[in-house]
Amino acid sequence: MSELISEERCSCPFCAEPITIVVDFSAGSQTYIEDCQVCCQPMGVVVDVDADGYRSVRVGRAS
Ligand SMILES: [Zn+2]
Repeated sequence: MSELISEERCSCPFCAEPITIVVDFSAGSQTYIEDCQVCCQPMGVVVDVDADGYRSVRVGRAS
């Protein structure tokens, strides 16, 4: 089984604090901006879901 809504642990690209972001994989691959819960800087979140159902989440500095 796999949850469509998943909490993903990652590190903020600005303050390097460990954070948890909630990702909705039912929407497929997507890119959006989410503010860091610690330093409130805008992170760019990149969600990839490939044809095999493999999921990856990356965060980086939004420009
Ligand atoms: Zn931060």
